[in-house]
Amino acid sequence: MVKTVYMPDPSVSRKSHISTMKQYADMYKRSIDTPEEFWADIAKQFHWETPASPSKFFSYNFDITKGPIHIKWMEGATTNICYNLLDRNVKNGLGDKIAYYWEGNDPDDYSRLTYRKLLEEVCRFANVLKSKGVSKGDRVAIYMPMILEVIIAILACSRIGAVHTIVFAGFSADSFAERMLDSKCKVLITTDGAWRGQKLLCLKEICDAALERCKKLGHEVETCIVVEHLPRLSVSQSRNGTVEENGDTSQEKRKASEHKIPWTEGRDVWWHEEMEGASTSCYPVWVGAEDPLFMLYTSGSTGKPKGVLHTTGGYLLYAATTFKYVFDYRPGDVYWCTADVGWITGHTYVVYGPLANGATSVLFEGTPFHPDNDRYWMIVHKYRVNQFYTAPTALRALMKFGDEPVKKHSLSTLQVLGSVGEPINPEAWHWYYKVIGHEKCSIVDTFWQTETGGHVLTPLPGCTPMKPGSATLPFFGVLPVLLDENGKEIRGPGEGYLVFRRPWPGIMRTLFGSHERFETTYFKKFPGYYCTGDGARRDEDGYLWVTGRVDDMLNVSGHLLSTAEVEATLSAHPSVAEAAVVSQAHPIKGECLYCFVTPNEGTEFTTKLTDELKKKVREKIGPFATPEVIQHAPSLPKTRSGKIMRRILRKVAQNDRDIGDVSTLADEGIVETLFQNRIEIK
Ligand code: ATP
Ligand code: MG
Repeated sequence: MVKTVYMPDPSVSRKSHISTMKQYADMYKRSIDTPEEFWADIAKQFHWETPASPSKFFSYNFDITKGPIHIKWMEGATTNICYNLLDRNVKNGLGDKIAYYWEGNDPDDYSRLTYRKLLEEVCRFANVLKSKGVSKGDRVAIYMPMILEVIIAILACSRIGAVHTIVFAGFSADSFAERMLDSKCKVLITTDGAWRGQKLLCLKEICDAALERCKKLGHEVETCIVVEHLPRLSVSQSRNGTVEENGDTSQEKRKASEHKIPWTEGRDVWWHEEMEGASTSCYPVWVGAEDPLFMLYTSGSTGKPKGVLHTTGGYLLYAATTFKYVFDYRPGDVYWCTADVGWITGHTYVVYGPLANGATSVLFEGTPFHPDNDRYWMIVHKYRVNQFYTAPTALRALMKFGDEPVKKHSLSTLQVLGSVGEPINPEAWHWYYKVIGHEKCSIVDTFWQTETGGHVLTPLPGCTPMKPGSATLPFFGVLPVLLDENGKEIRGPGEGYLVFRRPWPGIMRTLFGSHERFETTYFKKFPGYYCTGDGARRDEDGYLWVTGRVDDMLNVSGHLLSTAEVEATLSAHPSVAEAAVVSQAHPIKGECLYCFVTPNEGTEFTTKLTDELKKKVREKIGPFATPEVIQHAPSLPKTRSGKIMRRILRKVAQNDRDIGDVSTLADEGIVETLFQNRIEIK
């Protein structure tokens, strides 16, 4: 019998910052009753060049009918986030502590960086940026793999008050150009190339094409700084003396070391040449708490990406506090978040949150499948990782290979397992809990968005009883509300639109260049609330279950259904690796369920399987929910961050080839296959 509630293991609670629900409830109450005091206390651990005035600690308007939307925390205070992450920690005696263990795509490539060394490198690179004319408020684009230089580049920007805009180094030249154009970047930082698994990515070529396109559209990026990443790998290869004559990897490496990259004199410069002789000290630029820190485009799961803008002071407080409590980080722990820095999870929980807490993190360049499917577990074992944070899409992909790859490694150091990005289906949750966590770890299913800056709904590992699939309860300072279609608050159990009544310090302040789009997207539908665009259900215990995007809700014969529920049922079948469900118009029922199912590795897609699946949904949810169509999907269309793009699946179901903006789609090929396998509704 599968349990529905799991208590934190005493081994986790014992060491936890918050080990009882009473403690959580008291702190939560204080964060809601007196937010100024709550956050001002937290702010004390950081350096403020000009302190915040208590009377202006927090002000906002969430009601569009009363005037423009604004959110301000600690207005008038000045600080520097890089100073707080590095100088402050070095001053507090953490200079020799490892900030990052770097693990390359190839297991033979690895290195490490202490807080002191990181500070020196950041100062040097900040001086390089200054020498290129970058100053406070200028935008700097970053298009890089997961290497130590990306961390250095990010922090160098924040040291001089420049605004970084990171674009995941998997986007095409056109999508990248669009983002550079929108943000009007002055400088671009990239590498000559990178590997992802066995694949060589020619990043500089992509950058050149993007820069060219930008120029054509009227914006010229002045400088392109290039990290020499490829030859360095071949050097380390010979250092280890293990050059293989056969095998794809070494061929790739040889190809890379011969790889000549395009170069534009006057615009392109090498990182290492610029760094040579640059001073290791750089006085930080003090910026206002409400000055911009970075902008980042959303994943684009639902449409055109939005340029979300975050500011300095509130974001620092929120990143630091969520990291500390949600992962229960303790001095001496090793933490690993697998997200790429190109996503918000990488910003808050690879860079800012961990460094604000003086943490030691793993930074991983590669993929979970290279050189084999046990790479994640190998890394957990190698660095004795205590907190591990990944996405359901990665878990589902790894579950396909069974438990054997996991069993090869010792995962006994793990205490907290995090999930982010999509609702985690109970099947994946249980696998995570049992196979990875050995029923001892707490699972933190963290719900949040690029816009929220940090976790907003999440369990705390030492105290919150866990329910598989539920992001549970709000974090400190967060006031979630469920609204019905008419904007009326649903109290007690029920399902509706997930909105927030009040800002917490880490929420975005605007969409870059368009405050109006910001107001319309998030504040227009329900005046007085920030609207997430997600739906949620509240159960009898007050737990919140995020059910997916509101536009993914469907109404079948008068029953309101969330696709997440049906998907969870389908993927619980032992032969199913992944499933996605969309609604489709039906002449009689109004709407019906059109399902896409990816079977496990080596499992055939048969009528027997589809019959079983239909039966299962009927039994689990009800006859009204019986899928009308179950189509075989060799894989599902996903964003480059790994989220299922249901909007494209809806188009497939409708046989509508006008699929809109696909710049964030990871593999365009699959869309055509799905159209070809489409099943007509009778
Ligand atoms: P876009 O806004 O451009 O369509 P996106 O919403 O996918 O893209 P992100 O900000 O990266 O961009 O993702 C936030 C969304 O991810 C949330 O709104 C929610 O739908 C989903 N999500 C994230 N974490 C969870 C979680 N733990 N449980 C359920 N859903 C989650
Ligand atoms: Mg979104």
